[in-house]
Amino acid sequence: MSTTYTQPATDIAVATDAYPPRTAARELTFTTHGETTSPRHAWFRDGVLAEMHRRGHVYRDPAAGSSDVGLVLNLTSLDAPRPFRRNSQGTFVASILESHGEPDDIFRTFYPVLLYAMSNLGIYIIDFGIRLDVHFMTMEQGHYVVTLYVGESEEEFFADIYDRLAPLATSQLVINNRYVADLPETLWAGDATTEQLIWAGRKLGEMNLLPAPWPIHEFLNERDLRHVMRLFGIGGLSYGNLSARRDDSTFWMSASGVDKSKLKEVGRDILLVTDYDADANAMVLSVPAEVQPRRVSVDAIEHHMIYREHPGVGAILHIHAWMDGVESTHINYPCGTRELAIAVADLIRDTPDPTRAVVGLKNHGLTITGRSLPEIFDRIDGRIIPTVPMS
Ligand SMILES: [Zn+2]
Repeated sequence: MSTTYTQPATDIAVATDAYPPRTAARELTFTTHGETTSPRHAWFRDGVLAEMHRRGHVYRDPAAGSSDVGLVLNLTSLDAPRPFRRNSQGTFVASILESHGEPDDIFRTFYPVLLYAMSNLGIYIIDFGIRLDVHFMTMEQGHYVVTLYVGESEEEFFADIYDRLAPLATSQLVINNRYVADLPETLWAGDATTEQLIWAGRKLGEMNLLPAPWPIHEFLNERDLRHVMRLFGIGGLSYGNLSARRDDSTFWMSASGVDKSKLKEVGRDILLVTDYDADANAMVLSVPAEVQPRRVSVDAIEHHMIYREHPGVGAILHIHAWMDGVESTHINYPCGTRELAIAVADLIRDTPDPTRAVVGLKNHGLTITGRSLPEIFDRIDGRIIPTVPMS
């Protein structure tokens, strides 16, 4: 284990150098799954494959399995969206399908398909003859369109498509958990800080800041729902997460997929994050001896970076909402990735006061730092906009 972790980072370079770059560990790989449904669908697949190849991504034979592949392009259809069941949580999935004609309500038509296909990203091609629209939709309800008109450069078009895929194709998830059953018994029932987390979670519920993104129970059967919950940690219960510092090197954080308005049990709803294990690429959690622990929120890596770099930060809140005038990340990296964590940590470092900062995550939400959770709620009171701008 890295010894640099025991001392507070005073040097910015030290802060992020402790997290090993993905490219040093493995090459960027991708593969395809499923069949194309039309010549247009096949043309699109071939264009994407060629561009990814050009950008240095390595194509893996689908027959070889996907256990260590970074990105799967899942070719499927709107009528019968087939999920690609990934073996590894480190694998991202983008589903590509063709829609015949433009649906009346794009979101209501496309978003459930994204869930059915259990994908991080949905790519929907609509061919109008004189132009081709490609809609992108993310789990966080990000939605944007890339258009190709007849006579325009296909090369530039596929370069645009690649840029939209790149956040998935190049980032590395840090969502593994390593549990150590060494939490002192005096903390099994929590402490003053976990009381603040419970209070803050309830407050988020009262402020209506924990909406399920979509009533996904209506769209998925029990088995698929459980699979999606495990993959994305969304649970359909509530989005967002919160944490509070316990001491110099540890912090309490909400678990993944739980209802934040009803946080209760240490080890199940609230976890003590003690470290990041670079060798295992895992968050280290200290848990009570006799609890079957839940996973910590996927953004634990981001909070870990911020607490290490800024000893004055006492609490961090992440909500899927917006505030006027915030600086935002430029690329919408997926939740739980090293790249999102670094992009957010970079923004916070550049604010006038990193211990009281509000920064935006493109197409996604806000990360807010403060001295404590009550101090954060005091500061954001009346300034929250429920809708996240999408582009
Ligand atoms: Zn989020």
